[in-house]
Amino acid sequence: MFTKFEPLSDWVSDTLSTWSKLDIRIDISEKESVLYLANFDKTVIFDNTIVDLIHSSERMPNYMSFCNVKKLDFMNIVDHKVPCPGYTSDVEELYSVDGETLYFNYDIIGLLVYCLSNYDDLKNNTYDSHGRIDSTNSHFVNNQYLDRPILDEWINILFNILSSEYKLDCQKFNYEFILTTDIDSIYRYDINKPKKTLRLILGDLIKFQNILNVIAFFILFPLWKLVFYKFDPHNTFRSIFECNKNNTYKKYAFFIPSQSYSIYDSDYNLNDKNVKNIVENLETFDVNFGTHLNYKSYLDKEYITYQIDTFKSNISTRSISNRMHFLQFKFPETFYSLIDNRVISDFTQGFADLPGFKNGTCRKFRPYDLMKDRMLDIYIFPLILMDVTLYSKRYLNITNEDLAFKKASYYIDCCRKVGGNFCLLWHNSNLNSNFEKKLFKRIKDYAL
Ligand SMILES: [Zn+2]
Repeated sequence: MFTKFEPLSDWVSDTLSTWSKLDIRIDISEKESVLYLANFDKTVIFDNTIVDLIHSSERMPNYMSFCNVKKLDFMNIVDHKVPCPGYTSDVEELYSVDGETLYFNYDIIGLLVYCLSNYDDLKNNTYDSHGRIDSTNSHFVNNQYLDRPILDEWINILFNILSSEYKLDCQKFNYEFILTTDIDSIYRYDINKPKKTLRLILGDLIKFQNILNVIAFFILFPLWKLVFYKFDPHNTFRSIFECNKNNTYKKYAFFIPSQSYSIYDSDYNLNDKNVKNIVENLETFDVNFGTHLNYKSYLDKEYITYQIDTFKSNISTRSISNRMHFLQFKFPETFYSLIDNRVISDFTQGFADLPGFKNGTCRKFRPYDLMKDRMLDIYIFPLILMDVTLYSKRYLNITNEDLAFKKASYYIDCCRKVGGNFCLLWHNSNLNSNFEKKLFKRIKDYAL
């Protein structure tokens, strides 16, 4: 897969130094990986099991081994039985010390390369009907470690051992809640789509007994968009971002920049008066704005450029973040287009049908392109949980509020334990039923 060790070593050093706030140097070679620390005369050596496997472009073995770290008693991992992807037998003795050298018997450096270079996607090559990587062929899913931020856990184990063996002062990783919304639609009732609207109105009358909205719409529909938008059930931005404890979490709203002929795309234009009002309101909540690029644009660089230009001419932001609509993505090609358009961060990396840790981490990182032997100059914020993943019939279909909350709280607990970001996606169009409203509030309150 990769051909050069030096840029790979530079990138791993940079990633670990950024995360730990220590001055770390990693040298990866054919034989082993060696960790050096500034002002520290000890070295740590890792065997190269996973690095070798990636170098020779092999698949990860379909076998799950573990390392039990119970006797080491670490607090900042999810469970003491830690998965060891890449190994075909359990790791019994995790490390040994010989003079000034600590030998590590699990290849944490290789695991980092594996997780943050999307190696699993590169080896998967099967896609669902929307062109997204098929989770059922993911090594993370098949070997049941998607639910563990394993890379974060292994990094924490490494620093725990360094601080206990050598009294090294390691920074604690901090938890942060990142609340995001993808604005696929701003109108639940749209007079330009009479059939869809009539269907929705009838459904809403039965489901939500929201009769006042429906009557108002019927009587006043010519004025609906102009005057009464605040009553539209998709105008939920205040409920999403309002918070008593000021600024304790990061907020992002992603807008679809242009309408298209696809039935999957948006019902608004960025120069719509109501969008301008939404933007003004969101600014009062300190929300960051980004693009939510159209369905099927993920492989079309020109179309991506057009949309980002449209976004920039309508919404002013210091920098551009992005999440692809439908989470459509091809690694690394979609990143090439985003980087060429100076997008600084992306929030797409996650499976639509499953919550969890698709990159083994809940920390932000810059990915590595194994094909071109270089770091990609964009920050990834891994998506941990999306609203519909929990309760849609297509996905987990958990329709009991307590069970859905329990599932969500597990991921929040994981992010808190390891010290990472719980990145939640809740669509503004998914706060209609009492179930959605109550579940969202419980998850948000718990994550704050
Ligand atoms: Zn979307």
